[in-house]
Amino acid sequence: MNFEELKIIEPILKALKKENYTEPTSIQEKAIPLILNKMDVLGSAQTGTGKTAAFAIPILQHLFLDHHRKSKPQKIKSLIITPTRELAIQIAESFTTYGQFTGIKNTVVFGGVKQGPQTRALHKGVDVLVATPGRLLDLINQGFIKLNCVEYFVLDEADRMLDMGFINDIRKIITKLPKRRQSLFFSATMPQNIVDLSRTILINPKKVAVSPVSSTAETIQQSLYYTNKSSKKDLLFHILQDKKINHVLVFSRTKRGADRIARNLKKQNIIAAAIHGDKAQGNRQKTLTKFKTLELRVLVATDIAARGIDIDKLKYVINYDIPNIAEMYVHRIGRSGRAGEKGNSISMCEPEENIYIKEIEKLIDQKIKVIKENPFPQTDKPMTAKEKRELAKAKEQKKQAFFAAKKRKKQNKSNSSKFSKRNKKQI
Ligand code: AMP
Repeated sequence: MNFEELKIIEPILKALKKENYTEPTSIQEKAIPLILNKMDVLGSAQTGTGKTAAFAIPILQHLFLDHHRKSKPQKIKSLIITPTRELAIQIAESFTTYGQFTGIKNTVVFGGVKQGPQTRALHKGVDVLVATPGRLLDLINQGFIKLNCVEYFVLDEADRMLDMGFINDIRKIITKLPKRRQSLFFSATMPQNIVDLSRTILINPKKVAVSPVSSTAETIQQSLYYTNKSSKKDLLFHILQDKKINHVLVFSRTKRGADRIARNLKKQNIIAAAIHGDKAQGNRQKTLTKFKTLELRVLVATDIAARGIDIDKLKYVINYDIPNIAEMYVHRIGRSGRAGEKGNSISMCEPEENIYIKEIEKLIDQKIKVIKENPFPQTDKPMTAKEKRELAKAKEQKKQAFFAAKKRKKQNKSNSSKFSKRNKKQI
């Protein structure tokens, strides 16, 4: 099965190709045709199974095709609610990625940060809104958001929503939605209270289910170094002194981080290269081929770029940082140990990431072996909430200053070009 067979339209196919998605995952194969047929869907699946694309792709397709028929600019036509800020950001990024050639706009709102940037983004007009329940209700109550044009509604990670006490918020949100809409409801588990909730949202739903992602972790040997942020570069070099690790995929959360890691390794005469979304497709393909043919010892990749990578004989995965979504960890380490090979994963955890390790161990239901012989042990403490707030504030100020400087530069440029035109006329 491929995406063409699922009748995905060209602008979305183009984005999927760019992301190196060669074939749909099980949940996508099952859910996409139903959603394209405008059915309500009750999906039993969790993060890591490709669930986001399973609903984002057909929603983008509906919106794109609807657009030509009845364009209602500046109205939210699709609402996705999800329990956590991390998931919300990730879902919005997925809509941006899969919808990059459709012109369909999305934005994301979540609590715990100032609402100004979010309301400004909403004011510009969006087709798709991804939200956590509390902030969504807040902005509805303040009149910044209207849901009366929503045609496609997704409730994501329903069981976590209930666990986190969002049930009343969800009920209130549902009352604001038009009755005529398509609804999709996803949950990793389906206890009775979730089924009951789904009945209040869905009409004649079709059911789809895929097995949980956490099980893949059992077959892979996992180890963990607790270290400091500043020691990671040296620790990675130390780990790679082991000549057994001769073909390894290193994960980095950010694109810039991936470039930096590859650069540092090259300085140490380790043959490495990075791939991520900012590299041209041809360049990515070339790097990947070099890695597959063992010309490269180390490939550094971001999560998104690594998704399309399928290397049968890969034995080692290194997590240079710990993913903040536990399922992502399972996905990362699942890149190794394919086609009967023994898989090994090595994770490098800095103090701020200690909490993610706890969440991962809960998901995979096992403790990850901590390496004691560690020349760079963790000595720093995680930041306090106040320190984190201050850091975020400083970063925001730096960003604002950067954009203000850019705006000033643009303004100066346009003023000087007006001036020179006027001068030319006078001459
Ligand atoms: P999700 O379950 O939505 O969190 O997806 C898990 C990961 O799988 C994400 O990083 C996606 O980019 C990736 N992914 C989703 N669908 C596909 C696909 N068809 N082929 C390759 N990777 C995919």
